[in-house]
Amino acid sequence: MPELPEVETVRRTLQPHLAGRTIAGVHVGEYQRCVATPDVEEFRERLIDSRITRVGRRGKFILLHLSTSDVVTIHLRMTGEVSIVDPVVPADAHVHLWLDLENGKQVRYRDVRKFGRWSLLTENQYAIFDDSIGPEPLEPELTAEKFTAMLQGRKRILKPLLLDQQFLAGVGNIYADEALYRAGIHPRRHSCDLSANECERLLHEIRLVLSSALEHRGTTLRDYRDGNGEPGENLSRLQIYSRSVDDPCHRCGTPIVRELIGQRGTKICPTCQPI
Ligand SMILES: [Zn+2]
Repeated sequence: MPELPEVETVRRTLQPHLAGRTIAGVHVGEYQRCVATPDVEEFRERLIDSRITRVGRRGKFILLHLSTSDVVTIHLRMTGEVSIVDPVVPADAHVHLWLDLENGKQVRYRDVRKFGRWSLLTENQYAIFDDSIGPEPLEPELTAEKFTAMLQGRKRILKPLLLDQQFLAGVGNIYADEALYRAGIHPRRHSCDLSANECERLLHEIRLVLSSALEHRGTTLRDYRDGNGEPGENLSRLQIYSRSVDDPCHRCGTPIVRELIGQRGTKICPTCQPI
């Protein structure tokens, strides 16, 4: 599933094509459940003739801010792809939603596994949505002191806590494993047991893995493509997530193990990340 660096890369590739463009047509194919809210008819009516002022991101959601002050939220889930194409390019059966722009281009939403969702929110609905998501890890407002208080104030197992979007925005399985490994912290530890030093180190490593992945336009394991249809180049830079069980740790040579934590497969170096 795309995480912060992948979704932000999609946002950056869409922004120059979409900012300032007016939506001239809205089409939803047979798979209408790709629109979560409102119903498809209202979705279409409210979108037509509105102008996209900018493309934003909140956590793992792409946002289309509209001149009407409505906001479209798009969650790509497993295999969702948003791209800008010429309408003459043939669409396959996995394209479920498309927007005609006034400049003749088309925004296409393609999703093989159909888990992705589009929603059209009013300003008030968007404020509630925004409040339901935790702080953005790359924003300077999230200080080490604040992050320490967030962790120490909860008695939760670290790995599922980091994946909880209400706790922290945009981190998923790949970057949680990478950050915990680099910080030398076992993912099964309880958040309240971390020292202030460990909390600060964890935030530092979360920021490093996210910003480095962003620099390399995200990690493509299989499906992820940016708004221009290009894969990311970060896979070879991962230090633990992409390793196999029993591969030697890059730092100490200990065989890497895989544990199921909060129902998610988690790669750990038992020496670098003591429990
Ligand atoms: Zn190690």
